[in-house]
Amino acid sequence: MQALTILRPNEATLTDKPNPQPGEGEVAIDIAFVGYCGSDLTSYRGLNPLVSYPRVPGHEISGTIAALGAGVEAMTIGTPVTVLPYFNCGTCRACRSGRPNACPNNQTMGVQREGAMTSRIVVPAEKVIPVAGISQRDLALVEPCAVGFHAVRRAELTSGETVVVLGCGMIGLGVILGALRQGAKVIAVDLSDAKLDVAKKLGAHEVINASGDVKARVAELTGEGPDVVVEAVGAEATFLQAVDLVATAGRVVYIGYAKAPIAYDTKYFITKELDIRGSRNALRSDFDDVIDELRKRPEAGDLIVTRTATLAEAPEALATWHERPGDFTKILVRF
Ligand SMILES: [Zn+2]
Ligand SMILES: [Zn+2]
Repeated sequence: MQALTILRPNEATLTDKPNPQPGEGEVAIDIAFVGYCGSDLTSYRGLNPLVSYPRVPGHEISGTIAALGAGVEAMTIGTPVTVLPYFNCGTCRACRSGRPNACPNNQTMGVQREGAMTSRIVVPAEKVIPVAGISQRDLALVEPCAVGFHAVRRAELTSGETVVVLGCGMIGLGVILGALRQGAKVIAVDLSDAKLDVAKKLGAHEVINASGDVKARVAELTGEGPDVVVEAVGAEATFLQAVDLVATAGRVVYIGYAKAPIAYDTKYFITKELDIRGSRNALRSDFDDVIDELRKRPEAGDLIVTRTATLAEAPEALATWHERPGDFTKILVRF
């Protein structure tokens, strides 16, 4: 079988791999779609410190069960599935306290271990989530949406509250879907009118182009400021803007991954008595919430997916994303 392999920075190609067979407790999955994650692009660019080369990327996965290893029961060949792509240690403080998404020993498929950008994968049965009533395309969107849903969980956002979402890329759109599901009022901010248009169509109540006076517009819309700000860009300006925009006694959730240290005027933390939280990866319960939401909203995927490439086109699609990152929200590879 063939796999998309990042051989070294800026070089991705198709390579031949042996067809994997499931061992005891494992499940083989014939891949239907795999999405390119921003972390895959970072790996392609040689900027991901967690990656060694060569590496098969991909952890946004859909497919069907192809074979069962010994001892795997209660699963049926042919069932559509998505996959929990995180391999946590199970013994550290985070794992013991129900937060395996934050495990410091975590290995994510396509990052610290081989990913799913290949015709068939084998994973432990407990990583497999059988799903009915949702398309294979949408199953590949579950993981990136779940990362956004997890940020909403971390924000403890409730019905009637207002959230400002900084950044309307894939993760920001997941935050918007999750916030709407909670019954919150959503104000979406981005530099791209095209991305704001997608946010609006997904249901964001207000959109603000970040090239204007965001603070003044947010004040117009909210009076005392939003209850919650979620940062989904990873840039210095938006990290700082989050604590500036949020209401007194509000919550800030950081999900964007800044690549360099950022200097804060820390007085806001105290004078506003802020709750400032990080959000990393997602929990199984976030996956379940996304599946429920996408089942109700089959049109959401039409808005999120920018391009669907074949495996033969996959190296070129990654190179094109690298050259024009602003043009794509989500690229899927279809097998
Ligand atoms: Zn990802
Ligand atoms: Zn752990």
